[in-house]
Amino acid sequence: MTNGLMQFIHNLPAVSATEVAGVYPYSINQAGSLTVFMIKDDTEDKLVLVGEGGSDFQGQPINGLDKPVRISALNSLNAQALRHHFPFTAPTRVLRQDRSFGVGDRLGIATPGHIRAFRNQDVYPVFAQQSIRELTLTKRSFEDVLNQVTFAVFREGYKKGYGADGDHLKKVEDIEVALKLGFSMITLDCSDYIDNQVGNMTDQEVDREIQLDEDLIKRYLHRTFQIEDVTFTYDEISLKRIVLIYGKAIDFTKTVFHQFFIDSQANADFELSIDETMTPTTPLEHYFVASELVHQQVEIATLAPRFCGEFQKGIDYIGDLNQFEQELKVHAAIARHFHYKLSIHSGSDKFSVFPLIGRITRGRYHVKTAGTNWLEAMRAVALIDPALYREIHDYALSVFQDARQYYHVTTDLTRIPDISTLKDSELPALFNLNEARQLIHITYGLILNAQNTDGSDRFRTKLYQLWNEFQDTYAKMLEKHIGKHLTLLKA
Ligand code: ZN
Repeated sequence: MTNGLMQFIHNLPAVSATEVAGVYPYSINQAGSLTVFMIKDDTEDKLVLVGEGGSDFQGQPINGLDKPVRISALNSLNAQALRHHFPFTAPTRVLRQDRSFGVGDRLGIATPGHIRAFRNQDVYPVFAQQSIRELTLTKRSFEDVLNQVTFAVFREGYKKGYGADGDHLKKVEDIEVALKLGFSMITLDCSDYIDNQVGNMTDQEVDREIQLDEDLIKRYLHRTFQIEDVTFTYDEISLKRIVLIYGKAIDFTKTVFHQFFIDSQANADFELSIDETMTPTTPLEHYFVASELVHQQVEIATLAPRFCGEFQKGIDYIGDLNQFEQELKVHAAIARHFHYKLSIHSGSDKFSVFPLIGRITRGRYHVKTAGTNWLEAMRAVALIDPALYREIHDYALSVFQDARQYYHVTTDLTRIPDISTLKDSELPALFNLNEARQLIHITYGLILNAQNTDGSDRFRTKLYQLWNEFQDTYAKMLEKHIGKHLTLLKA
């Protein structure tokens, strides 16, 4: 331990950390007679505990000082202890706020940059947000994701509250795990229960397939509904069609809600996603789902419909902006009528629709991004270590066809310049090109898990070393890039 740090500890709590190298100045916090702060010890961050109390922290005692001092690793137990002693480091229910915005941090390194982007915005962040697919591809767990965010929030002294989203969960077991850890929202993905084949059935087939029960007939058939200035009516075939598509999904949603959420069992909000369907959600479908949920006593905070046009990963909206605006108006009106917010998924880089979303929802929305944070991390690699970037780029090209079967993208690889003809300084600009963005975006799992012939990992360790060394560069990039998302939503 350096003399400077010993002197600093001696003078606690009546000091500021700015003059001590290695101490994160915003991390100094007190709980009772215990002071906790974070230091950078070589390349690793550690917690320092000074004073009595906090027996639930695990740490190495340092002898010969005039106060009890322990040095603690950033492990799971200490993350739990931080969340317990300093509640601002635990997730909170931000989804009920007017504006909330999810930034998945797949790599566990983005939160300091995200904090910079959100610090001066009246938008509530969801810093921890992972789907099971992302966890599998990055070899992480919900706990690890939450712990990384806990430490980052503590280190940077971000005290306005953040959310944690168990994103696109399909299984009851996964929901249970996320809720136990204290995740503040669950996004239920019921796409396994949505019948996409119904779209291919003729009216006669639909008619034969199902008998509507009396209750549904009474509540919907030939009735006219008015939501703000939109009216719509259910005829027999369209009602039957909707029940065939969504009936099982609504039942599943009800089961999950009643198991975990009803009567405020869980201290968490509930989002329903029906965005992974073959066709855009129609107003008739949206209204029916929402109305049935109310009927089944299911209370959602947000709903993610599938919008018209294309929300491809990591690039701007593709489609007719006029049509998007008209349909968004109806979806937003239905959401207002049922007292929840619209949730917009695959929100990375959808710059052309953000102003519409902000205005038409009257400033009440949830937006999710994930891939763009990874892409900015890779832009940093192109900037800092061009040779490593070139190697990864070539690898991504070689595995692109494997990766694309899991994503809906229309990437034309021939539009990406041959990087052997580019100067090093031209590499970061590849990330302004949709095709190159999608190339790196959808191959992220393969890049992170690539192995050398001897079984050692090929890129992962090098990448983390780089990101660790150049944290500030990455943080600045995220501040700017996520900041652009937030600003346009307010425009
Ligand atoms: Zn989604």
